[in-house]
Amino acid sequence: MMNETTMNQSAKNTQVNAVQNDSRWAKIQARDISADGTFYYSVSTTGIYCKPSCGARQPRPEHVAFYASCAEAELAGFRACKRCKPGQPDLAQSHALLIAESCRLIESSDENLNLEVLAEKSGLSLYHFHRIFKSVTGLTPKAYSAANRAKKVRDVLGKNISVTDAIFEAGYNANSRFYEKSTQVLGMTPTSYKTGGANVTIKFAIGECSLGEVLVASSERGVCAIFLGDDATQLVNDLQDAFPRAELIGADRDYEALVAKVVCFVEMPALGLGLPLDIKGTAFQQRVWQALQKIPAGLTVSYSDIAERIGAPKSVRAVASACAANTLAVAIPCHRVVRIDGSLSGYRWGVERKCALLDLEKKS
Ligand SMILES: [Zn+2]
Repeated sequence: MMNETTMNQSAKNTQVNAVQNDSRWAKIQARDISADGTFYYSVSTTGIYCKPSCGARQPRPEHVAFYASCAEAELAGFRACKRCKPGQPDLAQSHALLIAESCRLIESSDENLNLEVLAEKSGLSLYHFHRIFKSVTGLTPKAYSAANRAKKVRDVLGKNISVTDAIFEAGYNANSRFYEKSTQVLGMTPTSYKTGGANVTIKFAIGECSLGEVLVASSERGVCAIFLGDDATQLVNDLQDAFPRAELIGADRDYEALVAKVVCFVEMPALGLGLPLDIKGTAFQQRVWQALQKIPAGLTVSYSDIAERIGAPKSVRAVASACAANTLAVAIPCHRVVRIDGSLSGYRWGVERKCALLDLEKKS
């Protein structure tokens, strides 16, 4: 190990330059927490080694050396700093471990664990648990359990048992909003809207996902509406507005399989929906909607990208209108279209939902 007294001036300058030109030096000066774990540095005058974020007095560059691991620093004869404790897992890592445990707990539980129980088991306050869970998983604990239940429904549905059993097995119990809302809404049906227009029959049902209520409706030709919202009754009204002359029929139990599928799809968009879609609209809208379906989950494009792709580069505004006219939330992924500067702009079902969907897609 070299020290100041034995190092001649030119060797010292070389050492100073080497350290100052190293990108890691800037991270030490910035006490960059995000660099913790990526390298360690030693200080020859004190004989200790630190994490980049260490709050201790900053060393002079001529006293610094870098290491990829604690073991390397120790091999070079340095001791771990008592202040930043480089040998111990940092807060972010221990949070990740804690949250991973909570996730396993949610996955293995048959019932819905409430936030209080989860927070208590993790030894964190309610507020911190919620915040840390979200920062580690990208989802709130509630959304995570919903996604997990949706996955269970899908797994069980794959085994060909009845939808109702599947939903119960997945932890949607008789008191859950899934049933409450659907019977409440189904109780209003069958209903004919606007006399004389009864040649189209539309079945629908309502489910619940992490984004709120989901209404799924289909004609004989396929799924014709997927609406998102907070209020089931409002969604049914929207359906009525979208198809004023159709006969709307609250769906039977079989139809709930479809809702379960859509809920899964909303929670885990990368899986793909795989349902026939009944896409109505002008020829232009259909071209836009087809282009939207080709955007893979997890990616976003701009309105002008879509305009280019359908060979109408000047029709950016019309593309935006076609996105807004989309009745098949998520299935026709208009949420993947953002402004050219990357900002989210509008979404028929609310910008917050657009944001949540894009977050979900990044995670899955
Ligand atoms: Zn330190």
